[in-house]
Amino acid sequence: MRVKTVGVVGAGQMGNGIAQVFAVAGYKVIMNDVKQEFVDKGFNVIKKSLAKLVEKQKLTKDLHDSAISNIKTSTDLNDMKEADVVIEAVPENINLKHEIFIKLDSVAKKDAILATNTSSISIAEIGAVTGREDKVIGMHFMNPVPIMQCVEVIRGPQTSDETYKVVSELVGKLEKIKVMSKDSPGFIINRILMPMINEAAYALHEGVANAEDIDTGMKLSCNFPMGPLTLADFIGLDTVLSIMGVLYKGFKDDKYKPCPLLKEYVDKGWLGRKAKRGFYEY
Ligand code: NAD
Repeated sequence: MRVKTVGVVGAGQMGNGIAQVFAVAGYKVIMNDVKQEFVDKGFNVIKKSLAKLVEKQKLTKDLHDSAISNIKTSTDLNDMKEADVVIEAVPENINLKHEIFIKLDSVAKKDAILATNTSSISIAEIGAVTGREDKVIGMHFMNPVPIMQCVEVIRGPQTSDETYKVVSELVGKLEKIKVMSKDSPGFIINRILMPMINEAAYALHEGVANAEDIDTGMKLSCNFPMGPLTLADFIGLDTVLSIMGVLYKGFKDDKYKPCPLLKEYVDKGWLGRKAKRGFYEY
């Protein structure tokens, strides 16, 4: 299968990054969101990011221009009929993902691959609402997509070898590195990362230390580029909470119980950087 056009559903933090890297790699991209203002916001992030890359001489002006012209915006999922591969990047909520996959299954080409950027939800569960479970796969990009090298590819129990091969090749075309995971809660990355962030939230919640000391301690002692609470603010506390919920439900083990402080912040709308308030103020 030759992939020419990639659809991206959700133009938020992850969706616009995914659209950007495919557009730079020469693919036609259809970037979709529910409202024109959300698509425009995502496109502006891409334009700024590409301009910065040109400024830093990491991208030529010609590639910049072709990447911009490769992106078409959309607020209608019917537009995904043109895509060979669609990557869903809407919030981490199974009902919402089901709604999108039902619609995609009905509008996308018969042989189109439907990928999800889910951080933790079972690929089998997401794909179960489609009539093409062999063509459903996890393609988990890291944040920020244009910078982070790794893509976690998750095979559901019914994902075909052909689907896995096409997606693995795409990761290579983006000049990124693939790691493969089984369809298990949180896969590799978030099964390990999220409990650490959750534990940092517990340390703050129980007054063991303040946020700055938790982050500085972990950053300098473990040689991390940033502390866990700063990272959580980048990821989005709503996303962190959802993933902890998936781990807790999936493993039925109290060690994955989401920290009450996370819930409190999310209820208050303190979702991290995107809301200008999370563990820190921005
Ligand atoms: P986000 O909130 O920044 O963006 C989600 C976008 O989806 C929003 O623009 C929203 O308007 C749009 N959306 C909602 N309903 C829609 C619909 N019905 N149709 C089309 N668009 C719709 O979230 P995000 O951080 O980009 O996360 C998206 C997915 O990527 C989640 O599954 C998340 O778990 C995963 N993910 C996130 C990160 C991270 O660091 N934030 C990293 C890897 C994976």
